[in-house]
Amino acid sequence: MRPFSYMRADAPKADAAASFLAGGTTLLDLMKLDVLRPERVADINGLALSGVRLDAHGLHLGALARMSEVADHAEVKRHYPVVAQSLMLAASPQIRNMASLGGNVLQRTRCPYFRDTSYTACNKRNPGSGCSAIGGVNRLQAVLGTSEACIAAYPGDFAQALVVLDAEVEVQGAQGRRRMRFAELHVAPGQAPQRETTLQPGDLITGFSVPAGAWTARSLYLKVRDRESYAFALASAAVALQLEGETVREVRIALGGVATVPWRAHDAEAELRGKRLDEASATRAAAAAFASAQTHGENAFKPELGRRTLVRALLQAKQMEA
Ligand code: SF4
Repeated sequence: MRPFSYMRADAPKADAAASFLAGGTTLLDLMKLDVLRPERVADINGLALSGVRLDAHGLHLGALARMSEVADHAEVKRHYPVVAQSLMLAASPQIRNMASLGGNVLQRTRCPYFRDTSYTACNKRNPGSGCSAIGGVNRLQAVLGTSEACIAAYPGDFAQALVVLDAEVEVQGAQGRRRMRFAELHVAPGQAPQRETTLQPGDLITGFSVPAGAWTARSLYLKVRDRESYAFALASAAVALQLEGETVREVRIALGGVATVPWRAHDAEAELRGKRLDEASATRAAAAAFASAQTHGENAFKPELGRRTLVRALLQAKQMEA
């Protein structure tokens, strides 16, 4: 690890030159691997950005709330189960106790070429150098939202819950505080995979707001992975449903493990609205969700796994009491 200066931040102000430190589960990891080399680290753990609050407008989450706190919160589990489940199914208990929500949504890809600096060809870490994963080891890589420059999968789970419930993210930047749709936070790689979000240097995520809705109680997160105990998603689905009898009045779908960003599956939603939810309609929706999928050899299994994951998630959500 390279030398860096450490300071405690005493107010949520923009600091373009510093990397923010909360739980440290991504930052320190990547500093030890020499992938990230900040000269200054600002510890934000003393800021008043924690807390979990539910009211008539929705769910409000401080950026410094820990994953375990929200995953175990009885009211979140009851009214926003997809949020609690996406956090509970991620990482290990030790990491969930440390990792903050703000850091969680900004975690970096698990692409092995990004995390191993002995590989020079990685456009995300070393812009313009090429992509070792295309034509290389790519079993875990994305099949949706990819480009010729990068096929790295977004690794998180919680972000899919935020996308599916149309959450907003609150940001403190040089121009003051602002809010934006969470779906606008992450950007697909295009020709510049080194840029992963719309945040500006010094921007600090301060919290998240999830609006109340008739679909939040009938929501769930289904994650398929190599190890049930502790692994990143091969495919996952976040779904939220509002039913009238067996007919879909409203549906929200997001996919994880298969896309370069937290992926909202609007085409799949359109397939289901106004239809009876059964295996046939869920299968048609899943086909629509992966219609644009592009595979690269080792990850050719992902569209089928993703479709099956989504069908199962929809049918499980139908069975929920809400
Ligand atoms: Fe780098 Fe992206 Fe290619 Fe992985 S997939 S080697 S992160 S450019």
